[in-house]
Amino acid sequence: MNALRENLERVEATIAVACRRAGRNRGEIELMAVSKTYPAEVLAEATRLGLTLLGENRVQEWQQKCEEFVAQTTGLAARPQVHLIGHLQSNKSARAVELFDGVDSVDTLKLAERLNDAASKLGKRLPVLLEVKLSSEGTKAGLDAEARETAELLERLPELQNLQPQGLMTIAPFDVPEPETRACFRALRRLRDAWSAKHTRLAWDVLSMGMSGDFALAIEEGATRIRIGTALFGKRPPLTEQIRQFPGDES
Ligand SMILES: *Cc1c(COP(=O)(O)O)cnc(C)c1O
Repeated sequence: MNALRENLERVEATIAVACRRAGRNRGEIELMAVSKTYPAEVLAEATRLGLTLLGENRVQEWQQKCEEFVAQTTGLAARPQVHLIGHLQSNKSARAVELFDGVDSVDTLKLAERLNDAASKLGKRLPVLLEVKLSSEGTKAGLDAEARETAELLERLPELQNLQPQGLMTIAPFDVPEPETRACFRALRRLRDAWSAKHTRLAWDVLSMGMSGDFALAIEEGATRIRIGTALFGKRPPLTEQIRQFPGDES
């Protein structure tokens, strides 16, 4: 498992360079280790290396892994927080609120309301991020910043007392020239600035952007949380293998 330690060192070195270039402190940036598709023992190793935040993208998968993860990390000083970063169908809201410490992929008003209801029943206050879609390529998920439903969601959010909104998340388009990636990150930051001026009852500290291929750019553009999977854990198994291992959860 030395590979993980070395990968982490390499990622930290890249973060350090990006911080220096942007005149930022390392402490401003949270490193989320995206552990989807990896078995519990790998997550336990990440925990022992001091990673404090994990990202999983499927409810079912995490449900299957978490017991073993807890068993493998018993006795350690602290366990990382685990956030859902993948698309969530609103009918799985209750399960998600039980299983996760935060949901970073809220993309509809309906989902926000369902999560709020579920959190209320559990007496929980759930940290959430709004996922925004800023490019026509790549993923389908995310709010359209201009849509009326988004405006409605922003108006309603302060009343959803069992949610703790913290900011925004986006996924940049893949395989595009660097200026385009950068423009996407900059757009998320500007959106945060605009919305935070208008919606002062909400908190706007978190900008979750940047993945293995583009996190240095994201840091330069103001990311406060980067989501790193393959650069830490190596290449993920092919999708067919993932579905065999964690069936019933192709959301
Ligand atoms: C898988 C995933 C990541 C991590 O991707 P890598 O390219 O492996 O670093 C980050 N964010 C989201 C939403 C993901 O689904």
